[in-house]
Amino acid sequence: MAVSPGLHHITAICSDGGRTRDFYERLLGLRLVKRTVNYDDPQSWHLYFGDTTGAPGTILTFFEWPEADPALPGSGEAVALSLAIPKGAAHGWVRRLTDEDVPVAIAPGGDDALALHDPDGLAIELIEQDWADALPGYTTPEIGEEQAIRGIANVTLLVENIDATANLLEDALGWREYARASHAGMLRLRYGAPDRNGPGRVLDLLKVPETDPAEQGAGSIHHIAFRAADDDAQKEMGARFAAAGLRVTEMRDRTYFRSIYAREPSGVLLEVATEGPGFTVDETVETLGLRLQLPAKLESVRAEIEENLTSLD
Ligand code: ZN
Repeated sequence: MAVSPGLHHITAICSDGGRTRDFYERLLGLRLVKRTVNYDDPQSWHLYFGDTTGAPGTILTFFEWPEADPALPGSGEAVALSLAIPKGAAHGWVRRLTDEDVPVAIAPGGDDALALHDPDGLAIELIEQDWADALPGYTTPEIGEEQAIRGIANVTLLVENIDATANLLEDALGWREYARASHAGMLRLRYGAPDRNGPGRVLDLLKVPETDPAEQGAGSIHHIAFRAADDDAQKEMGARFAAAGLRVTEMRDRTYFRSIYAREPSGVLLEVATEGPGFTVDETVETLGLRLQLPAKLESVRAEIEENLTSLD
């Protein structure tokens, strides 16, 4: 059975691409590995951030929706995102963010994690992970190896039908439950890929009594994408989604990976993305993210697209 070795990327909605770029690239030190447009709405940005090459599990992407209202978090979506930092890095991050006037909360019960919000209100945690030190970090003039973010640590889905989502993770993707906690009617199940030591290998399912459905907007996580080693593995996972009663899309070519999509029983949009060909298919590692990249079918309207896009500076 083909198993998903981890998350591939997480995609959120922002209202201002330039502000989002400043936050994730300069402040958090991720690399802008690709500037392109939303293939389903080519007049707006799709920005990809990640490590040096945009390796699967390190990638956060943003659709720019300038007209979007602020998100109202709720059930049927991913509600929280944790990014991995090396052991001992949390204190330095608190200092850096405080110096930049970004409000920071220290996670209750530990000094190894901190919580903040991005400019659109998306909840983000930076959390020290044992495996992070072993990975090379993407460094910037302001952020060294000892502090650099190493990718996704965890993402939390708020779901009504927690058993159905749990079954899907097990049966279609080969993930396993390895921890659970319940308190006052709240249930949290922690799922992991077979190898949990690396970026994007852990996901929490959370069920809270009487939550309203989410209203998507700026600051929402739009979807989460799981990795498939290749097209055959993706096809197999898609067939198992379909066997579980989900409606699965046709495969779509996203240039840097190929994707299928399905909405799980509680409404969270899931994607399965191939690991290849990756972000160096149209740029070198050195020049990733410097120039607007368009799929061939949009090159003929490049001038019009460039004219309409908002400034990222
Ligand atoms: Zn995606």
